[in-house]
Amino acid sequence: MCAGWVIIMSTQGFDFADVDDLYREIILDHYRSPRNQEKLAESDLEAEGMNPFCGDEVVIQIKLVDGLVDAVSFKGNGCSISQASASILTDAIKGKTLDEAEALYFRFRDMMYGKSSSDDDADQLGEVEALAGVKRFPIRVKCALLAWATLEDAIKKHAREAEKKTSDKP
Ligand code: ZN
Repeated sequence: MCAGWVIIMSTQGFDFADVDDLYREIILDHYRSPRNQEKLAESDLEAEGMNPFCGDEVVIQIKLVDGLVDAVSFKGNGCSISQASASILTDAIKGKTLDEAEALYFRFRDMMYGKSSSDDDADQLGEVEALAGVKRFPIRVKCALLAWATLEDAIKKHAREAEKKTSDKP
């Protein structure tokens, strides 16, 4: 297990500006009061992810209505970053199409690997942007990305199943 975010911040001497305090609040709030934890009775997408470096686990379920994410739920265990990120994800993708959810993942991943930092991207990320500070700790980037990589798995699996259904038709 990895140490908590608070411990990391205090031991590694984060120099948080005011904006970063806001981000830290968002992360801690999602960690302490995770959103969307109720298991869905039925789901169209489901995937499980694990981050062996930290022992983080997450399961994501999604129910679609008219091609939009109508309900989303996660269950997990692990460090504060992994669980806060999963909670932020569930709020962030609600009401989006799977394509939009996937695009958000790519944008977030690019940000975490330092490929993009335009203001336009930041606007589109919303609360997800709060996790940007984690990129200063490369080992924690995997924690932050776990739920998102799991989402990507679920979307790919769903696309494969849809393709199979189409090709099975007489
Ligand atoms: Zn972790």
